[in-house]
Amino acid sequence: VNISSKLLENAVEALASMPGIGKKTALRLALHLLQSDQEDVEAMSNALIDMRKNIKFCKTCHNISDDVICNVCASPKRDQTTVCVVESIREAMAIENTQHFNGSYHVLGGIISPIEGIGPNDLNIESLVSRVKDGKVKELIMALSPTIEGDTTIYYITKQLKDYEVNISTIARGVAFGGDLEYADELTLGRSIVSRIPYKND
Ligand SMILES: [Zn+2]
Repeated sequence: VNISSKLLENAVEALASMPGIGKKTALRLALHLLQSDQEDVEAMSNALIDMRKNIKFCKTCHNISDDVICNVCASPKRDQTTVCVVESIREAMAIENTQHFNGSYHVLGGIISPIEGIGPNDLNIESLVSRVKDGKVKELIMALSPTIEGDTTIYYITKQLKDYEVNISTIARGVAFGGDLEYADELTLGRSIVSRIPYKND
């Protein structure tokens, strides 16, 4: 792409740094912005800056939140005794979209992976154990990917909780899941949450 303006080129480069946006698409978007009202472009820029600057992570579940505690953890309509443990914010969003789950979440921020050098201390596991210790949690649903890393993480968490009275279950395996939980079709994912299976630690 041959661009005669350095200003335009900078904008294209910035847009092209986004995942899934190639140079051509970036140019199309930049030209679109160039033809838009300046106020609209400013509003868009401000929304991005605002999000980056001000979004918080819930103190309880580590999901994104506009407040110290997210609206799922703060809601009296949600079952705070059932906690769905997920790898990242994206999985929490996917499960939330199914509208089949009325409990709360715990976002680990990854899964244990010795190969990638991710250990239990890099994840939000201690705070999960604290939630169970506090006695408010009756069931943990492990909605982690059915991989060695996912299994290792479930095993590790289960071991940390062996002295506490908490039921641990996993979401049904064999559903479209893999590393792409967020793309799993919502009905299947919703059903797998409803028909979860007890975790056997052997
Ligand atoms: Zn929360």
